[in-house]
Formats: sequence, C-alpha cells, structure tokens
Amino acid sequence: MMAGRTVRTLGEFGLIEQARRRLTRLSPGGGWRVRLGIGDDAAVLQGRRGEPVLLACDMVVEGVHFTARTPARAVGWKAVAVNASDIAAMGGVPVAAVVSLGLPPTTPVQWVRGFTDGLARCARSCHMALVGGDTVRAPQRVADVAILGAVGPRGPIARRGARLGDRLFVTGRLGGSMRSGRHAAFTPRWREAQRLLRRLRVHAMMDLSDGLAQDLWNMSRASRVTLRVRAALVPVAPEALGVSGALHDGEDYELLFALGPADARRVPRRLGECPVTEIGAAVRRGVGVELEYPDGSVSPLSARGFAHFGEALA
Ligand code: ADP
Ligand code: MG
Repeated sequence: MMAGRTVRTLGEFGLIEQARRRLTRLSPGGGWRVRLGIGDDAAVLQGRRGEPVLLACDMVVEGVHFTARTPARAVGWKAVAVNASDIAAMGGVPVAAVVSLGLPPTTPVQWVRGFTDGLARCARSCHMALVGGDTVRAPQRVADVAILGAVGPRGPIARRGARLGDRLFVTGRLGGSMRSGRHAAFTPRWREAQRLLRRLRVHAMMDLSDGLAQDLWNMSRASRVTLRVRAALVPVAPEALGVSGALHDGEDYELLFALGPADARRVPRRLGECPVTEIGAAVRRGVGVELEYPDGSVSPLSARGFAHFGEALA
C-alpha cells in the first residue's frame, strides 16, 4: 500500500495521466464525437451534423496565481484571458464562457465588483459572452472559467502535429511575466493565430503557460519529435532576467507553433503589433528538447518550469 503517496510525488503530469486512463473510454451523449480529448489546450467535440467546437477550463487560485493584493480587475481579466489563450492555441475563436467563483465570507463586495469588471473587460476585448457560473463559499478566493470556442477555417491545431524538419516559432517576448504584471494583463493571441492560419499551414500549436522549456517538452512528447532551440534566437522580454528567464519563468501566454520549411519562410515578422520569432526546428524523431548555444554546442534542455505540486520535472 502507498498510503503516504500524495499528488506532490505523483506530479501534475502523473495526475493528468491517471485521470486520462480512467476517463477516456467515456463517450459523449447526443450523438456527438470526441475528436480530441484530454492532453491538449482544449478538447475538440463534434456535433452530429454541426461544426467542431472547443471546450476548456482553467482556474486561478489565491496564493497560487494571485495574492490578496493583486487588483481584483486583474484577477478577473486573467481568469478569462488564460481561457481565451487555450482557445487561441487550438486555432479557435472564443465564443462564450461560464465562471465559478469560490469566496471566503469575509471577501469585500468591492473586490467581487472589480473582479467581475475585469472578467467583462477581457470578454469584451475578445468579443465573447459570459453566460453563467456558480458561486460557493471557499477557504480562499478561487475562480474557474469554462470556455467554449469555435474552430477557425483551418483549425483545430493540436500539439501533436509537429513533423521532422518543421521550424518552431513563438509570438511575443518571453520571461518576467510575473515580475512585470503581464501575467494578469496580457492579450490572448487568438487574433494572431487566426491571421496565421489564414495564410499558412500550421502543423502544431500550443500556448506557453508553464515556461518555454517545459512547454517544448509538452509539444515534443505529443509530436514525438526532438525540438532544438537556439538560445540566441529566443526573444527575451525586457523584464526577464536573461535567456534563462525566457526559458523557465512561465505564464507567458504566447503561442508556440511549428510549420514546414517552405511555409516557415512566409511567416511574417509581426502579426499586427505582435512580433513573431523563429527559434528552432524539429531535428530528429523521438522525444527530446535541446538547446543550441552560440558556439554551436548542443545540450539537453531541462524542463524546469512551473511545478504545481512542487514535483520534480523531467
Ligand atoms: P493548460 O496548461 O493548457 O491549461 P493543463 O496542463 O492544465 O493545460 O492540462 C493538460 C491537459 O490535461 C488538458 O487537456 C486538460 O483538459 C487535461 N486535464 C487537466 N487536469 C485534468 C483533470 N483533473 N482531469 C481530467 N483532465 C485534466
Ligand atoms: Mg490548465
């Protein structure tokens, strides 16, 4: 018996894998189909006659994702923005969301008002509706948003489609997101993703929430190709403490995507205001992530990123 075993030792990946094994054999009602289940930024469901829809949820918790001092509006903005980012990552367009709120009874009413204004502001900027939710008592403030997305003309784009020879790109600049406050004020990149998909065949895409290094591992595991990133090419945000910050800080909510070499030459340097940077390529079959230094040497890139339960990361 492993009575003492906790989610700390199991880790987030282990926990999700355990859930996946127990849940994947369930099929949806109403004659619907699961086109893509657990393991990507959002699930892809398809109605009996209809178009595919995207479904995802993401939660923010006091003491983990924000503190009592974080402005309520920023918390509300972030709760919607992280979800819209998951829809963007699939090449989708945000449609509508519901929000569940857990609050200690001592929560100032003014906080809730600010939070709701933050939700509404982000939703308006994403052209999406907020159509319901739930409210319960909780030991600390928690907000969970579930989002529905529509699939754009060339989507959905999964994490698992990167191929040998593909080039890797990221939007924006990475690192220092917590330090700069960007983690709670960012603009979800769904418009940029739509522009990209209209022009080019994107093979794989995801949003960067756990830090570029760890999310490269996530894409590599899903696609079963080794991803090599050139350190000198990684776009570093001014608030990040160097390339290491850009690789490991996390909460960037930028897009990481892969496409073939011919399409790679046609990727614009900017999508609107947003810079787009080529950072590397898929160099071999099999799972792996490598960093190439300016002197040409290559070494494995550790996943060290954000560990939810303090677990060791591969
Ligand atoms: P993201 O960082 O994009 O929000 P996560 O790392 O939270 O994605 O989740 C990875 C995948 O695992 C997603 O497909 C998500 O739906 C699924 N997932 C996460 N937690 C659970 C859970 N407790 N039960 C079932 N599926 C889960
Ligand atoms: Mg999540």
